[in-house]
Amino acid sequence: MAMTVLTERDQLGVKPGRLYVDGSWCDSSDGGTWEQVNPATNEVVTTFAVGSAADVDRAVRAARRAFDEGPWPRMHAKDRKAILQRLVGLISDHGEELNRLQTLENGMPVAFSSMAVVSSAMAAAIFDHHAGWIDKICGETFPTYEPSPTGADVQVMTFREPLGVVAAVIPWNAPMMLFAQKVAPALATGCTVVVKPSEYAALTSLRLTELIEEADLPTGVFNLVPGPGDPTGEALITHPGVDKVTFTGSRAVGSRILAASGDGIKRVTLELGGKSPSIVFDDAASVEGAAMVAMGMVSMGVSGQGCVCQTRSLVQRSVYDAFLEAAAGLTGMVTFGDPFDPATTSGAIINRRQLERVMGFIERAPSEGARLVAGGDRPGGELAQGNFVNPTLFADVDNSMSVARDEVFGPVLVAMPFEDEDEAIRIANDTQYGLGAGVYTTNIARAFRVARAVRAGTVGINEYTLMPNAPFGGYKTSGLGREGGWGSIEAFTETKSVIVGLSG
Ligand code: NAD
Repeated sequence: MAMTVLTERDQLGVKPGRLYVDGSWCDSSDGGTWEQVNPATNEVVTTFAVGSAADVDRAVRAARRAFDEGPWPRMHAKDRKAILQRLVGLISDHGEELNRLQTLENGMPVAFSSMAVVSSAMAAAIFDHHAGWIDKICGETFPTYEPSPTGADVQVMTFREPLGVVAAVIPWNAPMMLFAQKVAPALATGCTVVVKPSEYAALTSLRLTELIEEADLPTGVFNLVPGPGDPTGEALITHPGVDKVTFTGSRAVGSRILAASGDGIKRVTLELGGKSPSIVFDDAASVEGAAMVAMGMVSMGVSGQGCVCQTRSLVQRSVYDAFLEAAAGLTGMVTFGDPFDPATTSGAIINRRQLERVMGFIERAPSEGARLVAGGDRPGGELAQGNFVNPTLFADVDNSMSVARDEVFGPVLVAMPFEDEDEAIRIANDTQYGLGAGVYTTNIARAFRVARAVRAGTVGINEYTLMPNAPFGGYKTSGLGREGGWGSIEAFTETKSVIVGLSG
């Protein structure tokens, strides 16, 4: 099987990436570059310029000027909406190209990149949803408060105003959808933006930036500075000209961002990791279906490198064996290979360091007492040159084991039996994370009881997906704040109270 990664690169016309600052493309001020490597073959696809601290400073100053003096935050709602809708059209027109670029940058199979919530269609839907808010963002008026503390007759109302300069730091695993999830609400509310994509996946961000340029935003409103956490990310999150940092990625970096934001009291939204449970009761409509969903989430597409994957399966004892059989059966349907082959179902681990980390979890789990049911190794032959890991299922896992407590970020599902609803809820909540959860049952009252009891930002009942109009975020260490729907509008605006004296 020949891999077509470099052929695709040539067909897509990928060039070395540059920075986009204050309406112009430029190279790094200190000549720094980074190699973009495809994880399916570990071939270098291209290079891109690394934003230095000086480049980040220029980008933030441009965004600051555009916010403080430019037309964007002051534009009529109709005009700003028209520009974002032009962008929606451009993303849709270039949808297939963007999906293929995403496969090229992070090795996600093209079938998944084109169809799932990570696709260009989802990115366009998120921009479209937020464009729809633009002429509906408004404050409130309040009833007369009697008696007014000063005795004056006053009318109290609020204005909802754009927050300012937004720094958006994006990971590699769903780069297009997460670009949209941050940039769409920032632009819709009238903020200006500096984006730092992941050093492991900058290609779609670079192409989306070209489309933003084509949509004709005012100069300085949108800026892109590719590069790694050090120096580019650090320079951005610590810059005094930034009003808000919106971040998706690891807990370690999220906590660094929170600390760095203290000095300037920057606003922060953090979308971090997860160890989400799916809770399968014996009255589920299809126990096998629930098993396929859980195993599919960790083995298809990005091979478990998704923050919302349900990586802990809690299964009622009477259907536990049936669940394991169905989950193990699905692992046999996984195909690795050329990510541009439509028949390939699953991608590679993003880089060698992450690959070693995933294999470390897999090797340690049996010594902690977990029973290996499927996988546990890596495919050989030609596939050995890529960072592939066979989908792995561990049974009889205790929730205290590290494979049940830590986010593996790879194709590993752990299953554990439970006796009753109380025990299931206790295990589900016995985690530092709280991003998502699933419940599978045909008992509607039980479904809602469990949804109410589980401490997680998103709970799926017999279904699990992300929606552009649903607030998304985490409880506990899975994050801070929400993005999506009205939650995004709140997250990118400030509320100003205006008190009008009516006596004079
Ligand atoms: P990461 O935290 O290593 O990197 C994310 C981004 O932060 C990258 O752009 C990186 O360059 C940047 N960064 C690194 N150090 C920085 C610093 N000091 N200052 C500023 N920026 C810095 O995460 P990752 O490996 O790219 O992604 C995997 C993690 O992301 C997982 O933990 C996963 O659960 C999480 N994730 C969460 C969500 C969500 O919505 N909750 C979505 C996707 C991924």
